[in-house]
Amino acid sequence: MSAPRLEINLPKLHHNARTLVRRLAAQGIAVTGVSKATLGMLEIVHTWLGAGVGSIGESRIEAIEALVRSGITVPLLLVRSPMLSQVDRVVASASISCNTDIDVLNALAAAAKQQGRCHGVLLMVELGDLREGILPADLESVVQQILAMSNLQLMGIGTNLGCQHGIAPNVENMGDLSRLTTALEQRFHLTFPWCSGGNSANLPWLADGGDPARINHLRLGEALLLGREPLHRTAIPGLHTDAISLVAEVIEAKHKPSQPWGERGRTSFDGSPTAPRREGSSQRVQRALLALGEQDVDPAGLIPPQGTVIRGASSDHLVVESPGQPLAVGDEQRYQLSYSALLRAMTSPFVDRCFVDRCFVDHDVVDGSCIASSARWG
Ligand SMILES: *Cc1c(COP(=O)(O)O)cnc(C)c1O
Repeated sequence: MSAPRLEINLPKLHHNARTLVRRLAAQGIAVTGVSKATLGMLEIVHTWLGAGVGSIGESRIEAIEALVRSGITVPLLLVRSPMLSQVDRVVASASISCNTDIDVLNALAAAAKQQGRCHGVLLMVELGDLREGILPADLESVVQQILAMSNLQLMGIGTNLGCQHGIAPNVENMGDLSRLTTALEQRFHLTFPWCSGGNSANLPWLADGGDPARINHLRLGEALLLGREPLHRTAIPGLHTDAISLVAEVIEAKHKPSQPWGERGRTSFDGSPTAPRREGSSQRVQRALLALGEQDVDPAGLIPPQGTVIRGASSDHLVVESPGQPLAVGDEQRYQLSYSALLRAMTSPFVDRCFVDRCFVDHDVVDGSCIASSARWG
C-alpha cells in the first residue's frame, strides 16, 4: 500500500455516530452529520446514515452535487452561506442552506421560483463568536421578509460558536437561542422545525447537564470523525479518537548531532514545530525523516505515536526523533490527526485513502480497498 495514506475505520465511525445519535436523541436532538472535512466522502456518509444520522451537511456546493449524483436522498444542508454566484446550483442540489444575507435570500427565492422548487432556509444568528450570523436585533425584520418570499421555507434559526473566537456554548448564549426561537414563533404564529444549537463545541455543555430547552438540532463533524470536542480537544467519553489515522513512511534514519550548526536564519515554514534548544549538542540522537509535509497535512495537528517526538516539518519532510524505538528506512508510522490535519490530508492530492476494516453496516465496503486520491468531482 502506498504512503502517505489515511486509514479510515468505518466500523469505528459507525460506533461514534450511533453513540452520539442515541445520546442526543435522548435529549430530543437530531444530528446533521457534517462531512466537509472528508470532502463528502460517500463511504462515510453511508456509514453515518446507517447509524441514524438524518441529514448531511457540507460547506461546498461541489460536494453536495456529488452526493446527489451518488444517489444520496436525505436532506443535504449547505452549512455556509451561498455565494450569490452559486444560488442556482444551491437551489438545484441542496435542500437547505444556512443564511445571513437578505440579498442572497432574495436570489435564492428567485432561483427557487424559476426552478419550481422549495428551498429550506436556516437563518444563522450571531451570538458572540463573530463568524456568520444576523445580530439578534435584526432577526425579526429578516424573518418577516423571508416569510413574504415564495418558494423558501424557513426551517428556523441556528447559531455557530467556537470556530472563530473559541466562544463556548453556555447557559446564556444557548438560552438566548431558545428564547429567540420562542419569541419569533409567537410573533409570527408558526412553529419552526429546527432550533439548531451549533456544532461539536456544544457537546461539553450538554454533557455537563446544559438544558437544551428549544434546541432540537446539532450539526456535527469533528465529534463524529475524531471523537473529540473542539474547544479543549478533549476526547468524548465512549467515542473512538482513532477512527481515522495517517500512515507515513520513513525515508531517512541516521544518528546526527542533536543541534544544528552554522549561521542561523529563518526556516522555510515559520510556525511549524521547531527544534527546542537543548544542552549537550555533541550528543548524537537518531533523527528520522518521513515522506510527509505541509503539502500533505498540517504538521502542527499531528499527534505522533508514543515515544516519537516531532522536531519539525517543511513542504515534504517530517523530522522526528524516536529514541525508544529506532526507525529504519521503509518503516511506517501511524499518526493521529487534529481536525485541521485531517482536512489538509483529505484535500491533498498526494494522500491516499484506505478502508482498514470490514464494515458491518448496510452497505458493502471491501477490506483494505484504496481510493485513488485524484479529484473525484471531475
Ligand atoms: C463545519 C461546521 C459545522 C461542524 O463543525 P464541527 O466542529 O466539525 O462539529 C457545523 N456548522 C457549521 C456552520 C459549520 O461550518
